[in-house]
Amino acid sequence: MATTHSTRMLIIGSGPAGLSAAIYGARAGMRPIVVQGLQPGGQLTITTDVENYPGFRDVIQGPWLMQEMQAQAEHVGTRMMWDTITEVSMDGSPFRAIGDSGDVYEGDVLVIATGAQAKWLGVPGEQDYSGKGVSACATCDGFFYRGKKVVVIGGGNTAVEEALYLTNHSPDVTLIHRRDSLRAEKILQDRLFAHPNVKVLWNKAVESFTGEGGGLLRAVNLVDTVTGEKSAVETDGAFVAIGHAPATELFKDKLQLDESGYIVVQPGTPKTAIPGVFACGDVMDHTYRQAVTAAGTGCMAALDAERFLAELDFERAQVAEVG
Ligand code: NDP
Repeated sequence: MATTHSTRMLIIGSGPAGLSAAIYGARAGMRPIVVQGLQPGGQLTITTDVENYPGFRDVIQGPWLMQEMQAQAEHVGTRMMWDTITEVSMDGSPFRAIGDSGDVYEGDVLVIATGAQAKWLGVPGEQDYSGKGVSACATCDGFFYRGKKVVVIGGGNTAVEEALYLTNHSPDVTLIHRRDSLRAEKILQDRLFAHPNVKVLWNKAVESFTGEGGGLLRAVNLVDTVTGEKSAVETDGAFVAIGHAPATELFKDKLQLDESGYIVVQPGTPKTAIPGVFACGDVMDHTYRQAVTAAGTGCMAALDAERFLAELDFERAQVAEVG
């Protein structure tokens, strides 16, 4: 039988943003519920080495970090729910969400931390060499390619920023784009074209990734989108930077989304246009997209939620007094 779970703070998503909101919310006495979603722990559970999360001098593993965050959240009083939200109503506090299980979740505040997923090319070898040369995050993994040859695939701001970032580590960066012009901002393009360590391959689509049979990536196989000619670029690392898809399907008719589908928040805050509904982490951030920034905005969401609840309680108490 379906059960209704009520809480002061309902959090959808269990990556660094959702769990940081939970840790702060629990410590403020909000007894949060976190509905974990399809990928409990979020994107870090599909990465391996993490070297840039503050507090750990040695390399740590993404899945381990998320287990620790979850354990910390539970230790301070968070209830974790193994469920995926399929429907949400935001007509005012309490906010209601319905899970795949049929259970109903109600929260006086709602924190959306559903994250985003990197888009992949979907070509042979891509998943086989993921973590063994193929990556979707230069900021996370670029450091592992010090002094090595790398390629970046894509033509938007992310691809160009990643290519420029990689020049900090690599003397040989190649940007591979399927057309003959980039969609990245002009200022970024100017920087890219001026950089002596970067070259651009135009009109090239990736057909496959190949390497040492289950070992490390060795080459990216290309086809010319104009002539059909095939070629290969030897490389140690390939960064796929063709965009991200924020998990906002549930909210598209309820909250304002930007042209790429990210939730629009009031600048510098996790506040959405609906009082009591907050968005944090990659679902509202297409610029930084780091575990540490997601955790930071999760903390901000919890602090703002606490303020919202204090005001709500005050208003409810006044109404009760008058009544
Ligand atoms: P974009 O959607 O802007 O660009 C994606 C790029 O990948 C395009 O060049 C596209 O090619 C290419 N691409 C898409 N699918 C494929 C495919 N299957 N095979 C080969 N190439 C493909 O994504 P971004 O992540 O770059 O940016 C997303 C949003 O975030 C944008 O609004 C961007 O401006 C913003 N952003 C802003 C930053 C900043 O302000 N500093 C930093 C990063 C992102 P094509 O051009 O042919 O369509």
